[in-house]
Amino acid sequence: MSANAPPAEKASKSPLIRRAAPRVGFVSLGCPKALVDSERILTRLRSEGYEISPDYDGADVVVVNTCGFIDSAKRESLDAIGEALSENGRVIVTGCLGVEEQRIRAEHPGVLAVTGPHQYEQVVNAVHEAVPPQHDPYVDLVPAEGLRLTPRHYAYLKISEGCNNRCSFCIIPGLRGDLASRQASDVLREAERLVKAGVKELLVISQDTSAYGLDLKYAPSRWKDREVRARFLDLCKELGEFGAWVRLHYVYPYPHVDEVIPLMAEGKILPYMDIPFQHASPAVLKAMRRPAHQEKTLERIKSWRQVCPDLALRSTFIVGFPGETDADFEMLLDWLREAGLNRVGCFKYEPVEGAVANALPGAVPEEVKEERWHRFMAVQQEVSRDILAGKVGQTVDVLIDEVDEEGALGRSKWDAPEIDGSVFLNGDTGLSAGDIVTATIAHADEYDLWGER
Ligand code: SF4
Repeated sequence: MSANAPPAEKASKSPLIRRAAPRVGFVSLGCPKALVDSERILTRLRSEGYEISPDYDGADVVVVNTCGFIDSAKRESLDAIGEALSENGRVIVTGCLGVEEQRIRAEHPGVLAVTGPHQYEQVVNAVHEAVPPQHDPYVDLVPAEGLRLTPRHYAYLKISEGCNNRCSFCIIPGLRGDLASRQASDVLREAERLVKAGVKELLVISQDTSAYGLDLKYAPSRWKDREVRARFLDLCKELGEFGAWVRLHYVYPYPHVDEVIPLMAEGKILPYMDIPFQHASPAVLKAMRRPAHQEKTLERIKSWRQVCPDLALRSTFIVGFPGETDADFEMLLDWLREAGLNRVGCFKYEPVEGAVANALPGAVPEEVKEERWHRFMAVQQEVSRDILAGKVGQTVDVLIDEVDEEGALGRSKWDAPEIDGSVFLNGDTGLSAGDIVTATIAHADEYDLWGER
């Protein structure tokens, strides 16, 4: 293989009977920075159990790290891609020439994927797609599902990084950049690993879940025997196939969110959406520069509930945002009474260093913020008490989170861990975390439910 190709590594001989590890060939062109990129990619692949093939024949896929500095370097890179294609046939391109994807694909339409310089995650994802990593429980230090900080029975599944919105009170896009979605196959592979490892509930998270895939132009990727588009609805459908609870967080009410409600009604994914509405007054939402702020959300909520009467909505709000008038706040309270949200969090507005909202006129005095916060919480408590009282007598599935000598504590499909309410099963000590049991709701207060089996 070409200059800079890393030294060959011999396949390890283990007394244990093991499946052959997937093998990656690597061609590294260009400057020392490109070489360092190659080393990082190789290190990551080795840590995941891939072996490095010294020749084209022995490789399941070949990565070509290209140079695009001057014309002769570009030519050399294109030739190296051509050589790898003719010798092996399965080629992933990365590095500086990767920014000229059209040129590469025009000359070599057969390449599997093209990524740019420093896109380590994308190259590794492309390798995963071409040749999935193998988990060997005898030698891997890290379990197949990765290291997690959550209990064994639920896990957060991050589908994208960053955000294309520019809410005036938020600095996240400045810190994390624009939306960068993971390939659908990558997300699904992780979900499958988690479910195999015993996870019963997948909590889908991102900064803007319903914008998933926009940056990828909804590009399809290969999953099992099919192509799956990087699209909110398509991903939800596929996640619904794992047999685990699937809960959606940080959904903005863009029009296409309507499409996932039937999946909730059919029981494919949980009838639950966490939508950070933040306010109801159009003037405040505009000053906040909220995504989907022109949507008629009350009408949308009603139409969702017609399709899925069981739908639980959780949200967060900010009171005392600069410029929020008494009339804006009263509008928010009216909206809250009418929307009948199941779970709500409320924050008093605080400036964040670097946020655009800091320069907005009309700062609300602290005592007014405080008073509005208490009034807001009192209204929501009434709403919540009424909703939960309506659950008494219903038979529901409960996912058990904890068990002690007094009984078990779990959650229904309407409640996310950490942030929502619980279902108490007093005296039910024979259960374990992760069990899903059926209970009849016997009692409710404004936050929690009590069930019997
Ligand atoms: S608050 Fe707005 S800008 Fe910040 S992460 Fe959420 S959607 Fe993006």
